[in-house]
Amino acid sequence: MGLGNKGLLIVLSGPAGAGKDAVLGELRKRELGIKQSISMTTRAMRVGEVDGVDYFFTDAQTFEKYIEEDYFLEYVKYNNNYYGTPKRKIQEMLEEGVDVFLKIEVEGAGNVRKTFPEAISIFIVPPSIDVLKERLRGRGTEDEESFNNRIAIARDELSRAKEYNYVVINDELSACADDVCAIISAEHSRYEKMEAFLNNM
Ligand code: 5GP
Repeated sequence: MGLGNKGLLIVLSGPAGAGKDAVLGELRKRELGIKQSISMTTRAMRVGEVDGVDYFFTDAQTFEKYIEEDYFLEYVKYNNNYYGTPKRKIQEMLEEGVDVFLKIEVEGAGNVRKTFPEAISIFIVPPSIDVLKERLRGRGTEDEESFNNRIAIARDELSRAKEYNYVVINDELSACADDVCAIISAEHSRYEKMEAFLNNM
């Protein structure tokens, strides 16, 4: 795949409402130098979202053209919209030694693991289904059909947590971010990551 092996590719998944964005926001505040890949999507922009920051928003026809051009590391159709991870920028960041987060759903995570087995995968879970529902309702971004669809998807996704290397409960945000930091720190201390350093000693 030629993605380089310097930075860590960290896949972060979890059902909508598990708090992935909040966790990533908390990690950004800590200024660890970890970058987040910006995905492309065909879903409508939500209030407060910014094109090129939250996602690159586009239409299905353009997205399909990018698919043909092999632009994506992975892509899926989720809740009737396309979502995809642009490949080249990630490649550059990893080669520069930068750790990169992919905030993607379970199908895409599985595809990343196939093409990039070194990727570390972390599954964020809410403390309970009730909390998940509360968080989704609180967002107020879903109509009833979309809400029910997301709960059904969430249940299915939760059953796939076993495909991940790590599972972290997001009950208290700061504690959850601490756990993710501990995982990243430990992954950097793996022998394979330290081998070049040791050989230079
Ligand atoms: P949302 O519409 O709530 O922003 O995202 C819906 C789901 O799509 C979330 O689970 C999010 O992590 C996932 N997602 C966002 N970007 C990508 C992507 O590039 N690839 C895949 N496979 N999933 C994505």
